[in-house]
Amino acid sequence: MIEVKSIINGEERKSDQYYYRECPYDNEKIVTKTHIASIEDLKSAIDIAREIFDNDRYNWVSDYKQRDRVLFKIAERIREESQTLVDLLIDEIGMPLRQAKAHVNAAADIFEYYAGFGSKIYGNVKFLPNGDLIQLVKEPVGVVGAITPWNFPLTQSARKIAPAIAVGCTIVWKPASYTSGISYYLAKIIMSSGIPKGVINVVFGPGDKIGSELVKNNKVDKISFTGETTTGKWIMQEASKDLKRVSLELGGKNPFILFKDANLDQAIKGLIYGMFRNAGQACGATARLLVEEEIAEKVENKVVEAIKRLKVGNPRVEDTDVGPLVSKSQENKVLSYIEMGLKEGYKLLVGGNKIRNNGLERGYFIEPTVFSNVDNKSKIAQEEIFGPVLVIIYFKSEDEAITIANDIIYGLTAAIWTNDYRKALRISRRIRAGSIWINDAYTQPAEGLWGGYKQSGIGRELGLQGIEEFVEVKMIYNNINENYLHFKQVYKY
Ligand code: NDP
Repeated sequence: MIEVKSIINGEERKSDQYYYRECPYDNEKIVTKTHIASIEDLKSAIDIAREIFDNDRYNWVSDYKQRDRVLFKIAERIREESQTLVDLLIDEIGMPLRQAKAHVNAAADIFEYYAGFGSKIYGNVKFLPNGDLIQLVKEPVGVVGAITPWNFPLTQSARKIAPAIAVGCTIVWKPASYTSGISYYLAKIIMSSGIPKGVINVVFGPGDKIGSELVKNNKVDKISFTGETTTGKWIMQEASKDLKRVSLELGGKNPFILFKDANLDQAIKGLIYGMFRNAGQACGATARLLVEEEIAEKVENKVVEAIKRLKVGNPRVEDTDVGPLVSKSQENKVLSYIEMGLKEGYKLLVGGNKIRNNGLERGYFIEPTVFSNVDNKSKIAQEEIFGPVLVIIYFKSEDEAITIANDIIYGLTAAIWTNDYRKALRISRRIRAGSIWINDAYTQPAEGLWGGYKQSGIGRELGLQGIEEFVEVKMIYNNINENYLHFKQVYKY
């Protein structure tokens, strides 16, 4: 069992209040014991982050070479410590071994991608017609409050921490309570990178106490949040009180549009990859399969066949494809959606049950589940289930597919599968979502972009755009024109 403590100004803080994290594939095993931080702990973390930023202590804001070295080192250390990180991902959230390895690599990639950025961020300069010069300079936004979810705990955190470091922000990080162990371990890796103490502080405690105080605190300049849409809406409302900057990465219920001219076998592989990764607990999951009606039956047979080949089980086992859900409450939520689908009379093609045998009874395992011919207006099609439940919706034309894809409050991702490239591009333009995959699904390179339209969020992460979320742009006006003509146009003296 790992003992997790907040790290503030480089020092670990004990507390006399704890919470314990059970292992989701064996709920008799306790994985972490977390010391719950107090509001005073949080305030001291914010104060130190503020002080370092405002005084450019350690030359943190001005010396980008130092920051670039730190980022390279973090990436290197993540790769060195990958085995421990993989073990923790398996034990804390039940992520299957192969997926956990890929997840650790993806996190290292993000730190590596942003390493070197510090020296490559430029502003703009321009001579005005009167000869004066304006300089537009990019500056770090200040103290960043990073609030992260449990489902992809390393990459979601890396997408905030790495660009914030690259531009010279200081950080107070509040990780999800389910994943305090892995977050603590990542924090220790970051601390071992040569980063000055206090530049990043990690504070553990419940979202509605520590998270909400971080959002309310007026010494914080920006909140970068990933989590549920309802939490995101509350954060935006609260942040408006002092006009704190916010970026929000929220929920999704994403269409996977399959046309009859696509390579069906590859498409099904893409669908399964996009849908059942992390047991469907993914904001970008391809959770609505929109299929051209003519091929619906053929596709459904192939989907069922593919699902029957998936290995659901202990995430430690090399060939496991689908692990458990993160918690009992997540399991109950998913089972209640399955019940809803059955009550509404949708045909259950496969799955639908909690797994109670094969040594899995002490975990939160649910069979990969598929409902066919679902109405897009139904709750199981409109709401984020966050579990291994796929709904299939039929369409007859390209226009109808686009209408169904867009007829939802979310706009995070969409996949389009067709061999007609012009059609794919046409549709890409009309789908209102932050990421579109053509003949692919759920691939997220560090060089790319991530973020949502509509209620899937505000702002973007990854790539060049991810940097912009952590900078302010300032104009410096240089008068080099002794005539001051613009003054004379207004005043006569
Ligand atoms: P939550 O919104 O419940 O929690 C996310 C984080 O916010 C956690 O650290 C949580 O702390 C904290 N939190 C909870 N309440 C508050 C509050 N009032 N003020 C401040 N912080 C708070 O989401 P989940 O952890 O359940 O994550 C799953 C959700 O995240 C899904 O909806 C998913 O779609 C979304 N998501 C979006 C992604 C995207 O990129 N668009 C990527 C990944 C997930 P604690 O854990 O202590 O409750």
